[in-house]
Amino acid sequence: MQGELSGPQSVDTAVKDNPHPRAIPRSLPYWWEAGEPLPVQPLTQRCDVVIIGSGYTGLSAALRLARGGCSVAVLEARQPGFGASTRNGGMVSGVLKHDFDRLAGRVGTDRTRRIFAEAQASVLFLERLIEDEDIACDYRRTGMYFAAYKASHYAQLEREGERLQEHGIETTMVRPDQQQTELGTDFYHGGRILHLAGGLHPGRMHRGLLERCLASGVEVHGDTPVTAVERSGLKWRLASPRGDVLTDEVIVATNGYTGPPFDYCRRRIIPIGSYMIATEPLPGELARTLIPGKRMIQDTKKVLFYFRMSPDGQRILFGGRTSFRTIDEQESAKRLHRQLSGIFPALRDVRLSHTWSGNVAFTFDALPHLGNHAGIHFSMGYCGQGVAMSTYLGSRLAAGILGHADAETVFSEAVFPGRPLYTGYPWFLPLVGEFYRLLDRLGR
Ligand SMILES: Cc1cc2nc3c(=O)[nH]c(=O)nc-3n(C[C@H](O)[C@H](O)[C@H](O)COP(=O)(O)OP(=O)(O)OC[C@H]3O[C@@H](n4cnc5c(N)ncnc54)[C@H](O)[C@@H]3O)c2cc1C
Repeated sequence: MQGELSGPQSVDTAVKDNPHPRAIPRSLPYWWEAGEPLPVQPLTQRCDVVIIGSGYTGLSAALRLARGGCSVAVLEARQPGFGASTRNGGMVSGVLKHDFDRLAGRVGTDRTRRIFAEAQASVLFLERLIEDEDIACDYRRTGMYFAAYKASHYAQLEREGERLQEHGIETTMVRPDQQQTELGTDFYHGGRILHLAGGLHPGRMHRGLLERCLASGVEVHGDTPVTAVERSGLKWRLASPRGDVLTDEVIVATNGYTGPPFDYCRRRIIPIGSYMIATEPLPGELARTLIPGKRMIQDTKKVLFYFRMSPDGQRILFGGRTSFRTIDEQESAKRLHRQLSGIFPALRDVRLSHTWSGNVAFTFDALPHLGNHAGIHFSMGYCGQGVAMSTYLGSRLAAGILGHADAETVFSEAVFPGRPLYTGYPWFLPLVGEFYRLLDRLGR
């Protein structure tokens, strides 16, 4: 099992505290390994750019800035890669939380076309990065299968697929009676394949980016939460318990973990917990029959499930927003296992090996935002679809600081919307979540 794992450099204390590691799943992302932490270095006192947050956004920006000649320090509150970048499902796609026509009705056809085109470009960007940097992260362009949760969803998928095809996005419908080529279950009612999509090992992806950053001279400091940012003459002074840093430019790359002192962003981000489980290795024949199409799977529910085989093809990894309140990862494991068994009854008695959760960052317009507020750069709000987008926009952000021609992005054009009285604590989520679950039950 360990050969499969790679990720941040620390084990959750929950694992050490778990007295029955075989009887209940470990509270640990499947992608993590108990590796050595990065050596602690003295905190740099001055540099050209400080990046707050060491996920894909932060590291992608750091790599480009360092290669562009800047001195760069990445400051991370926990271990490097602590956030969503090593906790996700590893599904690479340019999927947006929007139906093309509805978004076009809101922001216009031209902008919608550019938004969809850039979302596709983010996948090509990530694929190129993996290839150019030779990152061993088990990436395969598998395609993604959108499984229709209700029979009525099939027609919606078909309509939306036709629209996507008109805009050059390749899709294929799979009728309910053909679905066994994609999924070994009758739980769903056919679906649609999105061809420009794939799967990777998020821990290895993060480790690869981290290694490229370090090799390019980026300083990455774990256990360094930034607690204040203020002007100091022409520079910025960032405070942390490990000391202060003076810098010319600041990038906030904290996504679903954004807190004080980044109140502008915090008031615009809705952090939502997403939960995942991994099964123990499955018997070979069973493992081969669950997802014969070997694609990444999402269903069409509003409170959706997403699942895939592990890169070694032995386990199923299954995720969802199983609760809109913060819940214990052992409890979320039970719920997810029940839901997984509803889809694949043959998995009812399999053991789980891992259970974990992480924060995704939604926005009030369900679009990512890159920008600059009062001199501080940010990129965030990937709405649960950030593996490709965060890496892509991190690089775009760096291009802007370096004055490179490819800095332009449609995701910097719109106002980053907030809501009156919203300060970053999403008290309304349980209510909204219940409403969405009701819509799912009604098949809307
Ligand atoms: C369970 C789960 C499954 C997902 N599945 C998918 C998927 O299959 N496909 C997909 O495309 N997307 C998926 N996502 C979303 C994707 O992982 C994220 O969009 C992406 O990783 C965001 O990267 P990031 O670098 O912006 O943020 P993160 O990786 O979350 O990094 C932010 C970092 O900022 C640090 N930080 C916060 N505040 C401070 C501070 N004050 N000082 C210093 N550091 C600070 C945090 O500790 C954290 O490490 C999933 C997310 C989750 C949680």
